[in-house]
Formats: sequence, structure tokens, C-alpha cells
Amino acid sequence: HWVALLQRGNCTFKEKILKASAYNASAVLVYNNSTEKTVKMGHDGTGDTVAVMITEAYGREILSHLERNLTVLVSVVVGQRGPTKNINRGSLVFVSISFIVLMIISSAWLIFYFIQKIRYTNARDRSQRRLGDAAKKAIGKLTTRTVKKGDKEIDPDFNHCAVCIEGYQPNDVVRILPCKHVFHKMCVDPWLNEHCTCPMCKLNILKALGIMVSPPQNTSQTHTF
Ligand SMILES: [Zn+2]
Ligand SMILES: [Zn+2]
Repeated sequence: HWVALLQRGNCTFKEKILKASAYNASAVLVYNNSTEKTVKMGHDGTGDTVAVMITEAYGREILSHLERNLTVLVSVVVGQRGPTKNINRGSLVFVSISFIVLMIISSAWLIFYFIQKIRYTNARDRSQRRLGDAAKKAIGKLTTRTVKKGDKEIDPDFNHCAVCIEGYQPNDVVRILPCKHVFHKMCVDPWLNEHCTCPMCKLNILKALGIMVSPPQNTSQTHTF
């Protein structure tokens, strides 16, 4: 009985093993040629011949004994995975799975966040547009009048325009809101466009004119982000 010791390289593992068994070797040791590690040897079709890969250092150590004409006894047994290696592999798998799960959760959260954000922005734009259209419509329905000499607005006791705190002069164009409050048209229109309420009594002109706008949707839900 003898065991063949071969260096990796030049031909396939299969060829090495077949050649060794042709010379009646009971087992084949292949030592690595470049790295300290061992690799898995593909050796389909080599029958029952036991073939093991060992590290280059181990192979050269055996070789040095053989070169001094010493007999080296080799016993090949089925090994067990070392406990350290097992733990390392187990923790590696655990860390990888945790990482993947974390990545999936973060991606899902990000996608959800952006979808909600886009939906919220769209809804807000839509409701703002609706509100702007409604405000224009409402302003168009409000009464305007050009102040003439002898009108009650010219009376010094009459309320001044609450926006510019100026009294009314003949030929001033004024707007009369549904609450009967009077303002310069130039003064109150920009305010109405934005707020839709009387600057004096906060009367909502959309409600007063029966132009209802539904409130923006989903706001409370998206504020949690
Ligand atoms: Zn004014
Ligand atoms: Zn008012």
C-alpha cells in the first residue's frame, strides 16, 4: 500500500487521481501550489480512490521527509468541521441575513415614503389649484363700485380702508364684501386671492357665496413623516 503525493497544476485532478490509481496507489494527496488554502477538487469518474487536498506547506513538509528517504505514514480519515469554523459560518449567515432583511425594510420604507410624498404633493397642488380657481370665481362675483362725490364712503366718519388705512376719494374703485365691509379693490383683491376671508371680520367669502371647496386630503396622515 502506498499513498501518492502530487503537486497541483499541469493537469486536471481527475487525470492525477486516475494516473495514481493506475499505479495502485490506495489514496492520493494533492498539495496546493500557490496558496496556503485548499480547494475542492472536482474528480468525477475516479471511482473509489480516496483523494484529499492538503496545503502547500503540509505537502512540502511530507516531501522533505521523503527526499531524505524516510517512510511517511499517512492516515486519511473523515474529518469533522471544527467548532470555530461552524460558529464563524453561522454568525456570517446570521449577519448576512440580518443585513439583507434590513436592506429590504429600508428600501420598502423609502419607496413607501416617496409614494406618500408624491401623493401628498399632488393632492396639495390639486386642492391649492381648486382653492385658487374658487377664489377667482368668488372675487368675480363680488360687487365693485366707483366712489362718487356725495357717496357715504367719502364721509370722514365712514370706516377707512382697513388694508391701507386711507380714506376713500372720489373715483376710487371699492369692493363690497358679502359682510358689507368695504375696501379698495386694489387693496383687498390680493388678500382675497390668498385667504378668501374678509380682513375685518374673517367671513369666508367662499362659504358666503356658496362656493364650497373640499379640504385638502390626507394631510394628517402624511404629517407623521
Ligand atoms: Zn386701501
Ligand atoms: Zn367683513
